[in-house]
Amino acid sequence: MILEISKNLPKTFAQKMETKMPNKSYDTIIIGGGPAGISASLYIARAGKSVLLFAKDNGALEKAEKVDNFFGQSEPISGNALIKKGREHAVRLGVFILETEVVAISEEDNVFTVNGSYTAKSVVIATGKSRSKPNIKGLSEFEGKGVSFCAICDGAFFKNKTVIVIGEGEYAKSEAKYLSAISAKIITLSSKEIAEIYGDKRVRGIKLKDGSDITADGIFIAEGSASALNFADKLGIETKDGNIVTDKNGRTGIDGLYACGDCTGGLLQIAKAVGEGAVVGELIVDSVKLKVNVSA
Ligand SMILES: Cc1cc2nc3c(=O)[nH]c(=O)nc-3n(C[C@H](O)[C@H](O)[C@H](O)COP(=O)(O)OP(=O)(O)OC[C@H]3O[C@@H](n4cnc5c(N)ncnc54)[C@H](O)[C@@H]3O)c2cc1C
Repeated sequence: MILEISKNLPKTFAQKMETKMPNKSYDTIIIGGGPAGISASLYIARAGKSVLLFAKDNGALEKAEKVDNFFGQSEPISGNALIKKGREHAVRLGVFILETEVVAISEEDNVFTVNGSYTAKSVVIATGKSRSKPNIKGLSEFEGKGVSFCAICDGAFFKNKTVIVIGEGEYAKSEAKYLSAISAKIITLSSKEIAEIYGDKRVRGIKLKDGSDITADGIFIAEGSASALNFADKLGIETKDGNIVTDKNGRTGIDGLYACGDCTGGLLQIAKAVGEGAVVGELIVDSVKLKVNVSA
């Protein structure tokens, strides 16, 4: 099986932390350097197994201005700072991190080959969920300053305020429903109606293409929910509603291939991603022990 994705290659967080070149062969390769992938890597590395982790960027948390609901963080922390701490932890335990996009995976006789060069007995897909971003003037400028991509994460910052949900599908409806219990007023619009998001230091509202103006304190982007399911589709593992289907321990339909975190759906939160990563990590450690015992 061969998988090809895009070829947009590295800028490097990991290389700053690298002291040597990666080996070619590992016990486990993890694709994804977010909470799920990092968490899995900690368990596997602490059991003395070799782990190579690929991360093309900081994932969903790159846009998180403040995280205030994760265990052990007594003060709000930015998503990027949390990821940095997680990766430093993994590196300390011996995980090798490459900030490189994975563009190809192949599998033959229970050995996986990644990007044509690196082999492993098991692979963990922890690539998160790609959230689609409409092309609206001002959107990028106000990301983290009133523009959010996650109601369950940021809704509480807009208690009794006016918010706009941008999107037309089921995802937008569920975001609006969630916000309806928190915010004073929710307006739902299609991105096609919007000319511009405006503000000063923070969002103040939007201008519509018909010339009218709506003031708002926050804007939630909930368009589509295109997920990066290329791996699953091409490898032939089951997906449902844009998520990779696994059993309760993160196993996919292919022996040695696991998935955890946002890419398996459910609650899109750090705690769930970290928990699933731990389960997958521990399962991989147990599987290796089992194979050793059986062959001994
Ligand atoms: C704006 C925002 C704010 C949020 N705030 C909170 C919050 O306050 N609290 C909370 O609990 N949750 C919050 N979340 C949700 C949280 O970020 C996610 O649930 C969590 O990050 C999921 O972890 P993950 O490891 O599954 O995926 P991600 O964190 O998205 O990580 C995916 C990883 O996979 C990598 N990757 C993807 N494709 C490839 C590839 N082809 N090759 C190599 N690497 C690849 C990415 O670079 C990244 O490292 C927020 C999300 C957003 C968008």
